[in-house]
Amino acid sequence: MAMAYIEPAPIKDKENPLESMMSRFDAAARLLGISDEMYDILKVPARQVIVGLPVTMDNGAIKVFEGYRVIHSNILGPAKGGIRLDPAVNLDEVRALAAWMTWKCAVVDIPYGGAKGGIACNPRDMSAGEIERLIRQYTVAMLDVIGPDRDIPAPDMGTGPREMAWIVDEYSKAKGMTVNNVVTGKPLVLGGSLGRTEATGRGVTVAALSAMDKLRMNPYRATAAVQGFGNVGSFAAELLHERGVTVVAISDISGGYYNASGIDITAAVTYRNGNKGTLEGFSGAEKISNEELLSLAVDVLVPAAKEDVITDDNAASIQARMIVEGANGPTSASADEIINSKGILVVPDILANAGGVTVSYFEWVQNRIGYKWTLDRINRRADRVMKDAFDRVFETSQRYQVPLRLAAYIVAIDKVSSTYKFRGGY
Ligand code: NAD
Repeated sequence: MAMAYIEPAPIKDKENPLESMMSRFDAAARLLGISDEMYDILKVPARQVIVGLPVTMDNGAIKVFEGYRVIHSNILGPAKGGIRLDPAVNLDEVRALAAWMTWKCAVVDIPYGGAKGGIACNPRDMSAGEIERLIRQYTVAMLDVIGPDRDIPAPDMGTGPREMAWIVDEYSKAKGMTVNNVVTGKPLVLGGSLGRTEATGRGVTVAALSAMDKLRMNPYRATAAVQGFGNVGSFAAELLHERGVTVVAISDISGGYYNASGIDITAAVTYRNGNKGTLEGFSGAEKISNEELLSLAVDVLVPAAKEDVITDDNAASIQARMIVEGANGPTSASADEIINSKGILVVPDILANAGGVTVSYFEWVQNRIGYKWTLDRINRRADRVMKDAFDRVFETSQRYQVPLRLAAYIVAIDKVSSTYKFRGGY
């Protein structure tokens, strides 16, 4: 079952993740007219750490892995960002992802800077014991980097609650007391938060409903297609359906499933859960391809699977009235212009899928006050954060006459740069 919680991860644009993000950042910085000095302050990461991690493997041999942690900015508060285990992890990628976290936290107005970490390894080829020793080594190597008031890691590709629990344990041993708010995305019993698993899909739904409201679209008359039926996509589909939207198509790696009168999402979730996490063989719909799903004439298209699914190759065929980016980087920078020229409203990833990092922030807050909030309180507060962020970005897009994506970057850059001016420092 693909239910793992993964905190905001990549802008993975095949063209080049760093350049893709920076082109959007540059455009927003130009529109805001920030000074060259401020531009450099926002561009250059505050701290970049590379460590060598010797780990005793199960066969007794010692293997040395390379680990990274980049704090892009701590202007708004302690830095926040996941740790990924992947053979392709490198400093450049971690740097781009750390900057991207800065903008995402700023857009939803949570008091965090941006960071990211990674270890170049292939967790699929490693035993649980090897991964545990690696994570513990990484924690020790990063003792003076991470911390509840400095830099708070979270799960990302290849890590989850299990790894977060090991970090809490190793960090707590070094400090001589339990410090569970050194990371978020923990198991519930160790200070994890209720509502965190569904938080991103829920935030996507709030963003979609807010956008529908602006377009005077009645959810009860609207249709949606959701690509990806994992953590983000299935919760988004379920909640959109709950709010009256007819979800006519869903999909996963096995292909797309279409039903003009609406898919029974609860049945689809139950089917997937009993079918090794895949929709393969789901009978409540007609089989279509993922490519066909993207070009359906629906009101709302939610790409919630992976990066780079809407590119300059297929952007012209998109017929949706709006795209709400559940995934990170589903629209490549080269497709932006085509989509905009068609008048399609795009709620960008740094806004639409920020519900996850928002509830991570709530996890940290609850740990700090030593109290657990009810699910109801968490949902209400997270919905408010998402709604306010949407309104802020929408208002900015009207003021600057720019698409929501650029407006989101403007909101974020403006927030970080004006905070820096208040704090002083140059
Ligand atoms: P997941 O692994 O739970 O689910 C991914 C889903 O996409 C699965 O249903 C999978 O079958 C499907 N998929 C994979 N390749 C596909 C393809 N080529 N075509 C169609 N479907 C395909 O992952 P997730 O946590 O739901 O994350 C999805 C996206 O959302 C990623 O881009 C992730 O970075 C982003 N995101 C996730 C969170 C979170 O809280 N989980 C937060 C922010 C952003």
